[in-house]
Amino acid sequence: MEVIRNYINDKWVESKCSTVMPVINPATGLMMYHVPAGCEEDINEAALHAQHAFSLWKNVPATQRIQYLFGMKSILEKHAGEIAEICTKECGKTLVESQAEIIRAIENIEVACGAPKLMQGDFSEDIARGIDEYVIRQPLGVGACIAPFNFPVMIPFWFMPYAIACGNTYIIKPSEKVPMTMTRIFELFSQLNIPAGVLNMVHGGKETADAILENNYVKAISFVGSTDVAKYVYRHGTANGKRVQAQGGAKNSVVVMPDANMETAVKIITDSAFGCAGQRCLAASLVITVGKARETFNTKLIEAAKNKKTGNGLDPNTDMGPVISHQSKLRIENLIQKGTEEGGKVLLDGRITDTKESGGGFFIRPTILDNIKEGSEIQRTEIFGPVLGLMHAENLDVAIKLVNSGKYGNAACIFTQNGSAARKFRNEAIAGNVGVNIGIAAPMAFFPFSGWKDSFFGDLHGQSKHAIEFYTQIKVVIERWHDEWARKF
Ligand code: NAD
Repeated sequence: MEVIRNYINDKWVESKCSTVMPVINPATGLMMYHVPAGCEEDINEAALHAQHAFSLWKNVPATQRIQYLFGMKSILEKHAGEIAEICTKECGKTLVESQAEIIRAIENIEVACGAPKLMQGDFSEDIARGIDEYVIRQPLGVGACIAPFNFPVMIPFWFMPYAIACGNTYIIKPSEKVPMTMTRIFELFSQLNIPAGVLNMVHGGKETADAILENNYVKAISFVGSTDVAKYVYRHGTANGKRVQAQGGAKNSVVVMPDANMETAVKIITDSAFGCAGQRCLAASLVITVGKARETFNTKLIEAAKNKKTGNGLDPNTDMGPVISHQSKLRIENLIQKGTEEGGKVLLDGRITDTKESGGGFFIRPTILDNIKEGSEIQRTEIFGPVLGLMHAENLDVAIKLVNSGKYGNAACIFTQNGSAARKFRNEAIAGNVGVNIGIAAPMAFFPFSGWKDSFFGDLHGQSKHAIEFYTQIKVVIERWHDEWARKF
């Protein structure tokens, strides 16, 4: 069976590691190919070449560096259908969802093409007679992205285009669960003649990530994944002197006020909770209805969730694909069980016990649990599956208290037609991304992708000018040039 190769210094190379891991199609349960488990030697080789390439790449004018990004954009546009299909096969999401993340990746490339302007520093003339002072931004060296499984295309593009546009060289480590999507993108990008060593890809799991954390050439790391690993990467990376931004897990709440437009709220929240089978870090995981909102919302929600067709993401009639793995399915089913033991009432049970019905795939249909208790495990734990918990609050203050009670702070949303309620929520919600009448509060590429509390470790975020600042360091220059020196010539 095929073992996926690494892309280092403009060449496809076999991993030095002899251990492999299977990559499974989550819709069928069938093994598709193998990915190397990863090892230090692979990262050391990639980082050495990236370091060599850096000495030349940093001196290529930014206006020329971004020409390669224009090439990336047209390749992703031209091959979107093919890339989406690979993404769906590996990750399970629907083709429409795979296409959508390719668009998000492209938007980040477009913003990164503004690097020549975004890198501009400040300039002050004559801070004293004949003396000027200014700031220049310079690249750091070798950067790396350690990516999660749930957005195989988009997430590395929150960082990589910015990093290389600023003159860094780069290593992407895709998730070992979805390695082929980025591999195909690299095959296509190899047509662009990007100078050797500027863009590299090394596969593997923890060993590869650890090697990135230890490598002396790697100066900056962008991590996205679960909170425990984010904390680990942040601690070890910064202890080793690297700049680290680490995005972690989430448990996002949505408040529905009695004055919300219920049709709209139900549609948007259903899509938010069950899109990508609930495997989005901005997905609605808990809904808190306020006052009279409860009855209408809950009834309409069950109807809408029932209508979501679960199946293979390659089928155009499918609304929701499988979860990523058998282990993930078991973990989610255990959490549903735990939720019922804690007093949760199952309004819609998506657990599929008949293996014939699943056809070997890791399917769970939309599941809704009501009566979630404050402080219960199901309220606190990230489920990362198609399970929506329902809570109730007598007023907005109580609802906001519930929103803010967990350890995560990725996103919080409110549905209301009342500007004052929306404004209060926007101010008081302890979350990095806030939505008003929005189900997935995903920032556009020209805004930073925020995150608070246990959902983010670091300072500067991915996307936008933040990514430019993360992948550059400032140099403050002060110069004296007296007029009389010019008169000598
Ligand atoms: P994960 O933490 O299991 O893996 C993420 C990456 O870390 C992978 O590349 C993996 O190989 C590596 N890794 C795993 N364990 C490691 C370890 N012990 N040491 C070093 N590296 C390790 O996450 P996942 O299951 O791939 O992705 C789902 C998680 O990602 C969810 O928690 C989700 O909320 C989060 N996520 C967050 C955001 C965000 O913007 N905050 C976006 C997408 C996903």
